[in-house]
Amino acid sequence: MYQLSEEEVDARARARRFADELVAYEVEAELNDGELPAEVREAHKRRAHELGLFATNMPREFGGGGCSMLQQVLIQEQMGRVTNTLGWVAATPPAWLVKVATPDQIERYVIPATRGEKEECYAITEEGPGSDVDALTATVRRQGDNYVIDGVKWHVTSFNSASFAFFQGKLSEGPHRGEHAMLIVDLPSPGVRVVRTPKYSHTTSHHHPIVGFEEVRVPVANLVGEEGDGMRFAHEWFRYERLMVAARCLGASGRLVEEASRFANGRIVRGRPISELGAIEALLADSLTELFAAKALVYETARGIDQNLDLKAQHAQCSMSKLFASEVAGRIADRAVQIFAGRGYMRENVAERFFRELRVERIWEGTSEVQRWIIADQLAKRGVDALV
Ligand SMILES: Cc1cc2nc3c(=O)[nH]c(=O)nc-3n(C[C@H](O)[C@H](O)[C@H](O)COP(=O)(O)OP(=O)(O)OC[C@H]3O[C@@H](n4cnc5c(N)ncnc54)[C@H](O)[C@@H]3O)c2cc1C
Repeated sequence: MYQLSEEEVDARARARRFADELVAYEVEAELNDGELPAEVREAHKRRAHELGLFATNMPREFGGGGCSMLQQVLIQEQMGRVTNTLGWVAATPPAWLVKVATPDQIERYVIPATRGEKEECYAITEEGPGSDVDALTATVRRQGDNYVIDGVKWHVTSFNSASFAFFQGKLSEGPHRGEHAMLIVDLPSPGVRVVRTPKYSHTTSHHHPIVGFEEVRVPVANLVGEEGDGMRFAHEWFRYERLMVAARCLGASGRLVEEASRFANGRIVRGRPISELGAIEALLADSLTELFAAKALVYETARGIDQNLDLKAQHAQCSMSKLFASEVAGRIADRAVQIFAGRGYMRENVAERFFRELRVERIWEGTSEVQRWIIADQLAKRGVDALV
């Protein structure tokens, strides 16, 4: 199906094997604030490397997998089958950095991240600007051989395990005043502190704290690209991550349809499995149909990227993929809870966990409303035929 090559089928099978292994740890993580014993975490990390599922997006010359976009989608889809973000262990370090990194940044960040020795986090969102990244208020100013940065960033995912942060702010002085700059901040660094760590809907070991950066001095060597380049990188990262969000939503949706269908076949009410009741059949049929449509869309988008589709069309299609796959996953999770009913409201049930966890897929990396705005904007500028 989907005309996958042998190599693609193999990548998917390896990822599925790993996902099935991780599923066994979900309930333990759920009941322990997302935490698992350190030796289990380490074993998962080793397994991800062993199966060739770590850094699949990074170039082979640096030790990465050098996978095509479709292969990455197939792998992340399988990782999306697992709750409590356990699948994030098959991490995709910042491949966008490779194109602009200096040789020194390649040595200090790209290679260690590809080997799994260093982990990154993104400090971009702020309380006021929110979705409007153009309106960031964090400041960056040059002082001798350093930049001095100030700002408060929200929802900094994985800050608790990261060894460096991508910080985006606006230059407050100099020839590029008012433009964006991105810097790599080593963690910990003097002046960087957690303001607080709120609890979120999902249960994961990856925290999303509010982080203050006060007069933090960052060497000029840690500027990414040129002054004024900041937004360019944000767009590239968003494009990639939106497609990977979509891929993980496919995996979650597939697992939910399978589990709900299996339950419906075995749950007998008045002498008949509930899967034979018209109302339940409709829930399952709609879920499967929407999953098929989402898969076709996401795979086709990945193929387009592999074939160097026009960048603007890629941008619109990644937004369409994220929008559709995340909304579909939300509906499928809701139907799955309804099929499991009381059992589906228990935290030990996969539908309950996904019902909470999938909600954020419509929010991060740009909300559904923002994706619609991007898609409509591209439609107005380029027309239907250029985009679909
Ligand atoms: C769990 C989690 C992890 C996250 N991780 C990170 C991270 O690691 N790094 C990071 O930098 N950020 C991260 N984020 C931030 C995330 O990207 C933002 O929450 C998201 O972009 C939306 O911004 P906001 O929450 O401020 O919403 P707001 O911008 O305040 O939006 C409020 C409402 O207005 C709507 N809206 C806003 N603008 C428009 C528009 N132009 N058109 C139509 N409707 C609009 C929104 O859709 C929404 O319904 C994370 C968020 C969460 C919840």
